[in-house]
Amino acid sequence: MATGNINVSVENIFPLIKKFLYSDHEIFLRELISNATDATLKLKHLTGIGEIKIEYGSPQIEIKIDKEAKKLHIIDQGLGMTEDEVQKYINEVAFSGAEEFLEKYKDSAKDTGIIGHFGLGFYSAFMVADQVEIITKSYKDEDAAHWTCDGSPKFTLEKSDKKERGTEIILHIAEDSVEFLEESRIRELLQKYNKFMPVPIKFGTRTETTKTGEGDDAKEESFEVDDIINNPNPAWTKQPSELNDEDYKNFYRELYPTQFEEPLFNIHLNVDYPFNLTGILYFPKLNNEMNLQKDRIQLYQNQVFVTDNVEGIVPEFLTMLRGVIDSPDIPLNVSRSYLQADGNVKKISSYITRKIADKLNSLFKDNREDFEKKWNDIKMVIEYGMLSEEKFYEKAEKFALYPTVDDKYYTFEELQEQIKATQTDKDDKLVILYASDKDAQHSYIEEAKAKGYEVLLLDSPIVAHLIQKLETSKEKISFTRVDADHIDNLIKKEEDQISKLSEEEKTNLKEILDSVVPTSTYTVQLEAMNSNSAPFIITQPEFMRRMKEMSATGGGGMFGMSNMPEMYNLTVNTNHELVGQILNTKTKPKQERLIKQSLDLARLSQNLLKGEELTQFIKRSFEMIK
Ligand code: ADP
Ligand code: MG
Repeated sequence: MATGNINVSVENIFPLIKKFLYSDHEIFLRELISNATDATLKLKHLTGIGEIKIEYGSPQIEIKIDKEAKKLHIIDQGLGMTEDEVQKYINEVAFSGAEEFLEKYKDSAKDTGIIGHFGLGFYSAFMVADQVEIITKSYKDEDAAHWTCDGSPKFTLEKSDKKERGTEIILHIAEDSVEFLEESRIRELLQKYNKFMPVPIKFGTRTETTKTGEGDDAKEESFEVDDIINNPNPAWTKQPSELNDEDYKNFYRELYPTQFEEPLFNIHLNVDYPFNLTGILYFPKLNNEMNLQKDRIQLYQNQVFVTDNVEGIVPEFLTMLRGVIDSPDIPLNVSRSYLQADGNVKKISSYITRKIADKLNSLFKDNREDFEKKWNDIKMVIEYGMLSEEKFYEKAEKFALYPTVDDKYYTFEELQEQIKATQTDKDDKLVILYASDKDAQHSYIEEAKAKGYEVLLLDSPIVAHLIQKLETSKEKISFTRVDADHIDNLIKKEEDQISKLSEEEKTNLKEILDSVVPTSTYTVQLEAMNSNSAPFIITQPEFMRRMKEMSATGGGGMFGMSNMPEMYNLTVNTNHELVGQILNTKTKPKQERLIKQSLDLARLSQNLLKGEELTQFIKRSFEMIK
C-alpha cells in the first residue's frame, strides 16, 4: 500500500479563484477596500497608543478609474508595507491563503454562492484583473516597494520612488471584466458594500453650489468637493443614549432611500458578551406585502456589508423586519445549514428574539392605545413568531391582541374574561367567534352581534395555524368562524325553539329539498330557529375550511386538502314563513323555482354565486319582479 500527499501546485490557484468566485466576482472591490481600511485603522491604533510618532491626520481611501489605460486604482494612506512585508504578507501568505481556499472549497462545493461571502482577500483582485500592481510605502523609514504579478505565480518586486505613506493597488482590468471600468458600476458596488465603512472613501468629485448675497446681489457659486461615498459613523455604531427618534428615522432613510413609509418603531441591539453584536432593527408597516422581498435586513461585519440574506442567523419570522445587524462573530464561511447548528449563531438568534419580545412588551405596557393602532401592521410578525418560536409565544401571550370587528382589542386573557358568561357550548367550552372578512361575512357577523356575542376579526393569512395552536395549547376553548355553523347550534341556549312543522311535514320538506338542491355540494339540515332568522343559511364546517386554509398556507402534513371539493351545510329554518310557503306550494315547477331562488340568495350572501350562475340568477330575478 502506498500513502502520500497529493501535491496541490500553486499554478492551480488562479484558475480556481477565477472559476469559483465567478458568480460573485464583484466582491474584489470590497476585499481591497477592506484591506485599505485595515491598513488605515492599524495606523490609527498604533498612533493612538503612541507606538508610531506621526500625525494621524484624516486619511481617506480613494478609488480612481483610468478608463483609457483600463486601470482601477485603490489608494490608501494607511500604514503601508516595506519590501520585506510584501514578501511576507503578499507572497508567502498566498500559500496559506490558497490552502485555506482549497480546504473551504472542498466543504462548500455544493453551494458555491457561499464562497463569495468570505474574503479571499487580496488575491480576489485576480478575478477581474490580468495584472495587479502594489506600490506601497511604509510609515517606517524605508524605501517604497513595487510588486507586480500577472496572475501566474511569478511576481516581480523592486524599489519605487513613492514618497507618501500608504498603498496603491493598481488593477489592470481584464477584457472580460471591463464593466468595472464604468463609473456607474463602481458607484453601485461602493453603495452596496462600503456605504458604512469606517474610513472615508472618495470617488471622484462633485459640484456644490452656495448662494451668496441677497436680492440683486445674489450670486451662485459652484466649486468641486471630494465625493465621499460613505458614512463612516452609522447610527448602529453609536450608543442608544446618543440617538433620538429623528436620528433613527434618518438612518432608516439612509438604509432604504427608496422607502417612503416611515418605520413603526425600532430596536437597538447592543451586546458584547458572550458574543459581539450591534445593530438596529425596524418594524416596517407590513400591510403592503409587495415590500417583503426587497429592502431586507442587512448583515455587516465591522461595517462591511456582507449580505442581505440573514436566513439562518435570525429566526425566520424576523426576516420580515428591516435594518442592520453587525457582528464579527457570525461564521460566514460555512454553509447555511451548518450555521443554524453553530452555538454562537443560536445565541445570537435567541438574543434578538428576546430583545424584540421585550420591546413589544414595553410598547404594549407603556402606551397601549398606540400599540393597538399599530397592531394591524405588526401582527404578521408577531403571529408568525408565536407559531414558530415557542420562547416568543410565551412572551407574546402578554401582548398579542385579538381585535373585534368593532375595533376593540383584547388580550387573550381579557377575551376569555369577556365572553365566559355568554359564549359557551354544551361541553362548557368557550366558543370564540371570529370573522375573516367583514364584508363577505356581514350577515353572519350581524346575527352574532344581535345576540350579544363578541366577534373577532382575524384576517391574516396564517391565522388558521395560529388558531390551531391556541386550541391545542389552551384548555376548553374552540374557535369558530361566524359562518361555520349556525350560531344557535354552537352556543348553549336557554331554551330550544319549537318547530312549527309536524314530523310528517318535515319528512316531506326534506324530500322536496333533496330533490332540488345539489346534494353533492350541500348537506341539507332542517332546524327550528327563530322566525326572524334567514330561511336558508349556508355554512361551511370549521374543521374542513380550516384544514384547507392551513394546507394552502403551508400546513405540515395537509397535502392534498386544497384539492378537496367544496362541501357546505344548508340549514333550512323550518319556522320561517317562506319555508312554510315552499312546503304548501302545489305546483312542482313553482316549488322548484322558490327553492332555487332561496338557495341562490343564500349563496349570494356567502359570495358563492359567480359567473354564469350569477347572470342567470339576476335574469331570473328581473323576470320575477316585472
Ligand atoms: P487578510 O486581509 O485576511 O489578512 P488579504 O489577502 O486580504 O488577507 O491580505 C493579506 C495581507 O496583506 C494583509 O493582512 C496585510 O498585511 C497586507 N495588505 C493587503 N493590503 C494592504 C494595504 N492596502 N496596506 C497594507 N497592507 C496590506
Ligand atoms: Mg483582506
